[in-house]
Amino acid sequence: MSGILVVLEDRDGRIGRISWEAVAAALQLASTVSQPVHAVVFGADTSAVAAEAAARAVNSVLRVDHALLKTYSSDGYTHALEQLIRARQPEYVVFPHTYQVRDFAPALAARLGQSLIGDVISIGGGPVFTRLLMQGRLTGAYRHSGGGPCFVSVQSGAFRSDSVPGGAAPIESFVPTLDTAQIRTRTGEPFRAGAQTVDLGSAQLIVSVGRGIKEAENLPLVQDLATALGAELGASRPICDSGWLPMERQVGSSGQTVAPKVYIAVGISGAIQHLVGMKGSQCIVAINKDPDAPIFEVADYGIVGDLFEVVPALTAAVKAAKQ
Ligand SMILES: Cc1cc2nc3c(=O)[nH]c(=O)nc-3n(C[C@H](O)[C@H](O)[C@H](O)COP(=O)(O)OP(=O)(O)OC[C@H]3O[C@@H](n4cnc5c(N)ncnc54)[C@H](O)[C@@H]3O)c2cc1C
Repeated sequence: MSGILVVLEDRDGRIGRISWEAVAAALQLASTVSQPVHAVVFGADTSAVAAEAAARAVNSVLRVDHALLKTYSSDGYTHALEQLIRARQPEYVVFPHTYQVRDFAPALAARLGQSLIGDVISIGGGPVFTRLLMQGRLTGAYRHSGGGPCFVSVQSGAFRSDSVPGGAAPIESFVPTLDTAQIRTRTGEPFRAGAQTVDLGSAQLIVSVGRGIKEAENLPLVQDLATALGAELGASRPICDSGWLPMERQVGSSGQTVAPKVYIAVGISGAIQHLVGMKGSQCIVAINKDPDAPIFEVADYGIVGDLFEVVPALTAAVKAAKQ
C-alpha cells in the first residue's frame, strides 16, 4: 500500500480552485511521507480535464471514464473510486471538501472500513491532520491508525492553489465496472447560481463589512469602496442576520470560506467564527477603531481609525489612482 490519490472535481470541464488546493495539500503530504501523488479525474470523457491536471506537478493522472459517470451520482462515484482504490492500494486519498465530496466520500470510506478526516486545515509531520472543532474554538489533531487507506478532505482556502507547480505528468486510464442497477439515484440539474447570487469562494478581492458600520443606511460607504476596487462585498454574520445583506455574502464558519488575494475587513472585530472563513486570504487588511481588536492578529496591514473617515478616503484614493 503506497501513494497518494488526490480526487479532483471539475465544473463544466474546468478543474476548480478548491481541487488545486487539494493538490497542494497532497503535495505537502507527499513531502512528509515521501510518496508519489496521483490525480484522479472522473467523467464520461475526461480527456480535456486529464490534460489540465497533467500540466501540474503530480506524478500521474488517472482517468476514470465511464458513460455512467457522465453526471455525478453518489453511487457511481463510490463504486468507481472503490474499485480504483482496491486496484491501486493507495495509502492516502485526499479530496477537496466540497458538497459533492461530503455526499459520497463518507460512504466510500465506510465501505472500505475507514473513517474520513474531514475539513482538514493543515498537515504536519507524522502525518498529523488538523481540524477545527466547536465552531473554530478548538483545534483537533488527528492521526490515522490501523490499515489504510487514510481518507482526508481539505477545507476551502486552507492550502494555496497557486503553490502547485507546473509539470508534465503521464496520463493513465482506469475503466471501472459499473451497471445502471448500481446507480440508485438520478441526479437533477446541477445547482446554478442565480443572477443575484455571488460566489465569494472564487472572488479575488473582497471588501467585508461588520457591525462597525452601525446602520444599514451606511452600507453604500463600503459598497463604494468595493465598487472602486472591483471587489465583491462580504459581511460578518450580524450584518446578514439583520437582513442588511443576503446570507450568501456571509463569511465565516456558518457562511462562506473565502481565500481571495486581498480581503479588507471593515468594522469587523475578528471573532473566531469569522476568522475561520477568511484567514486563508493572501493579504488581509483590517480597518477598526479598536487597536486591540482580534482581527489585527491575522491582518497583514492594519488601519486603526474610524471607518467613516478611513473608508471614504480609501475610496477616493483608489478612484484617483485609477484615473
Ligand atoms: C455558532 C456560531 C456561528 C457563527 N458564525 C459566524 C460566521 O459565519 N461569520 C461571522 O462573521 N460570525 C459568526 N458568528 C458570530 C461571531 O461570533 C461574532 O459575533 C461576529 O463575527 C461579530 O461580527 P462583527 O465583527 O461584525 O461585530 P462586532 O464583534 O460587534 O465587531 C464590530 C467591530 O467594529 C469596530 N467598530 C465599531 N465602530 C467602528 C468605527 N466607527 N470604525 C471602525 N471600527 C469600528 C469595533 O471596534 C468592533 O471591533 C457565529 C457565532 C456562533 C455562535
